[in-house]
Amino acid sequence: MAQATLQIDLSALQANWRALDARSAAGVQTAATVKANGYGLGAGHVAHALAHAGARRFFVAIAEEGLAVRAAIGPDLPIHVYGGHMDGDARILREAGLVPMLNSVEQLTRHLEALPGHPFGIQLDSGMNRLGMEPAEWGSVAEIVLAQGPVLIMSHLACSDAPDHPMNAQQLHSFRQMTDGVQVPRSLAATGGVLLGPDYHFDITRPGIGLYGGAPFTEAQTVVRLQIPVIQTRDVAAGESIGYGNSYIAPRDMRLATIAAGYADGIQRALSGRATLWADDRPCPLVGRVSMDLLTIDVTSLPDAPETLDLLGPHQGVDDLADIIGTIGYEILTGLGQRYARQYL
Ligand SMILES: *Cc1c(COP(=O)(O)O)cnc(C)c1O
Repeated sequence: MAQATLQIDLSALQANWRALDARSAAGVQTAATVKANGYGLGAGHVAHALAHAGARRFFVAIAEEGLAVRAAIGPDLPIHVYGGHMDGDARILREAGLVPMLNSVEQLTRHLEALPGHPFGIQLDSGMNRLGMEPAEWGSVAEIVLAQGPVLIMSHLACSDAPDHPMNAQQLHSFRQMTDGVQVPRSLAATGGVLLGPDYHFDITRPGIGLYGGAPFTEAQTVVRLQIPVIQTRDVAAGESIGYGNSYIAPRDMRLATIAAGYADGIQRALSGRATLWADDRPCPLVGRVSMDLLTIDVTSLPDAPETLDLLGPHQGVDDLADIIGTIGYEILTGLGQRYARQYL
């Protein structure tokens, strides 16, 4: 079988949730962000495992994503939608029992007209300028909105992965100014905000990346391992060329393994000649270009030809791979291809 295997360690995921939950006081509820198909790992499996670990509330980006989560966790636990209530969402919000986090007066009006009595939350902009009502806008509608009984008020931090950034305190101040004294549960912290400490926790935290083993939660357990089968090995002589464009010329006699994954699986072509794969504890450099379905790996240092090589695992996490090409672990995770066999441990 040439299909690569993406192993997803659900007990490591659960341990990461518990570890983040332990960072806030007992009275703070630790929810879970499972948008983008559970950061690429399978929203249903991830949400089910997290519910078992103790998560009592979930967040997705768009209403459609709530369906798989609802099917996985049953009817009772709340699922919130960061994107709010968009035109055409009413049916799915109602049928899947989703709570839109309304971002504007326009969304508020739409929601109250289309789904009167259906629970909603409010998203405020505390400075990131991405989603949510701005302070002045909120000031003019807060009284009317609060009379309708929102179930949650939230905002989002722009720089929480940088604990010393002054933006964190600025946003905290802005969020407090907009919400202090309001008798509605509040949420400000994603993974980075959980790590910033109790001032940022309010009533509910909503970590994502840390659950899946990514920075800034550096103490996270490894959740994903990507094992790629070797299709063929060959010996090449010094001076021979390898792969598309002859971009790599063997500097010495070497042994190569050709393995079954490529840029069609989310292994970005920018990694050409720059990544390392692992045979257990032994590093093996990727040589030449990343092709659509194949990679060529220098396995000269191995005593025996391996059956598989790992691109992700304990020796190289999503952030290590991201660093090589100047991106972030989030993008590596959510780019993991659909062709992998996903195996849940
Ligand atoms: C994605 C997201 C989160 C989770 O963020 P992480 O950095 O992955 O923990 C929380 N809140 C909002 C609004 C988000 O968009």
